[in-house]
Amino acid sequence: MKRILTGDRPTGKLHLGHYVGSLKQRAELQDQFDTLILIADVQALTTHFLNPQLINSSIYEVTMDNLSIGLDPEKVTFVQQSQVPSIAELTIFYSMLVTCNQLSHNPTIKTEAKNYGYTEMTYGFLGYPVSQTADITFCNANLVPVGEDQLPHIELSRKIVRKFNDLYGTEIIEPDAKVSNVGRLCGLDGNSKMGKSLGNAIYLCDPPEVVTQKVRNAVTDTNRISVKIPGNPDVCNVFTYHKIFNTEEAPNICSMCKNASLGCVACKKLLADKLNSILSPMREKRSYYENHKDVVKELIQEGTRRANQIGNENLALIKDKMHVSL
Ligand code: ATP
Ligand code: MG
Repeated sequence: MKRILTGDRPTGKLHLGHYVGSLKQRAELQDQFDTLILIADVQALTTHFLNPQLINSSIYEVTMDNLSIGLDPEKVTFVQQSQVPSIAELTIFYSMLVTCNQLSHNPTIKTEAKNYGYTEMTYGFLGYPVSQTADITFCNANLVPVGEDQLPHIELSRKIVRKFNDLYGTEIIEPDAKVSNVGRLCGLDGNSKMGKSLGNAIYLCDPPEVVTQKVRNAVTDTNRISVKIPGNPDVCNVFTYHKIFNTEEAPNICSMCKNASLGCVACKKLLADKLNSILSPMREKRSYYENHKDVVKELIQEGTRRANQIGNENLALIKDKMHVSL
């Protein structure tokens, strides 16, 4: 079975953007691939090093989010990054093959640094794509499902692996990226991205009335000042959501909006109901794990043990080829 490595930074609960950007795809692929879900707590430190408590509690939240969307604990392996020393070792070896320029010119690093308001970058933040390369390759993953923003990183990972293999004669697998077909989910506030630090996220564990309220506050076609005026679905965020989450009803909603037979309030109600029907089984699954945190902890620990076996074996081979073992 080929292997997938994917995962999340435990910096808070996961939202609909994560769901369409990667979680949904993982659930669909879990039967075909040996799937490792990395709870990237070291990577979380690169931006949240001042808040280790948040990272600690989010390890549980993010794992429960993954379980709630239908990842089968019998099939997938949850891995806590900080507890896998082979990832850290590999990061150091790879760091010799990457120049500071390569990292500082990386478009995603630049955007993220700007979003976080960094005037200067720490060594750890600048180097996170290197550590991500170690995340992917410590277990020789073949495929990495990612959001489009992560593509420059996977490209760099492939470069590093090629160079490393050429130099040391190792046979580390060059990973392929698999981008979700939805791309980036915009925020209902009109922002071009739903993000937890943007304050516009609908969380997978939000209760129904919270989802309904968030949808009610959504920005629609701003030119449509009255129900009687026809709307323009092409410029309406709510309609974008209908296209993504309510595919069956979307064409009908589109025409009703255009001929002014459906107002924004009713249209939002349809969306909120649809989102709640998608989220309802997730909430149910999640509530089981919320009441059984010990089960969640055991899953992470057991998965991490497996990851360590795989990583230690691979790293022994790599060190041998590098002549760093005596
Ligand atoms: P923050 O606001 O703290 O940066 P975030 O909500 O952007 O948090 P991240 O942990 O930075 O979440 O996102 C991890 C990955 O999830 C991203 O690299 C991206 O691939 C995917 N992702 C996040 N938000 C969205 C979104 N709105 N649409 C599609 N994919 C997303
Ligand atoms: Mg982000």
